[in-house]
Amino acid sequence: MTEKTVFSRIIDGEIPAEKVYEDEHCIAIEDISPKAPVHLLLISKKPVPRLVDAEQADSELLGHMMLTAGKVAREAGVGDGFRLIVNNGESAGQTVFHLHMHILGDMSMSEQSLGF
Ligand code: AMP
Repeated sequence: MTEKTVFSRIIDGEIPAEKVYEDEHCIAIEDISPKAPVHLLLISKKPVPRLVDAEQADSELLGHMMLTAGKVAREAGVGDGFRLIVNNGESAGQTVFHLHMHILGDMSMSEQSLGF
């Protein structure tokens, strides 16, 4: 059996996280190492390793996550200005192989300020 990702362990309550949102398909938590004043991670409950590993059957999940990202950003007070980032693969900086979206807000929108 493949080892659980750190995000699966958070979803299963095995390790703590600052959870800001949860529904049947995804959770949102605060990033442990924030790159912006608001840095949330929207994580799929289904452990899809990378975006490219998602299948046709995951279209509803992906659509739901996009809509939820907007909702979570609004609730965090950054609905009018945030970036939504998915790192796909090690060469793109992905470190946790469990589908997630970075919600970055309340920041100057320069590339440099992203830090990744
Ligand atoms: P990525 O590089 O796109 O795979 O993003 C993984 C993100 O997960 C990084 O921004 C990490 O800071 C964050 N992260 C890793 N472990 C934890 C954790 N236990 N709680 C919250 N965020 C985490």
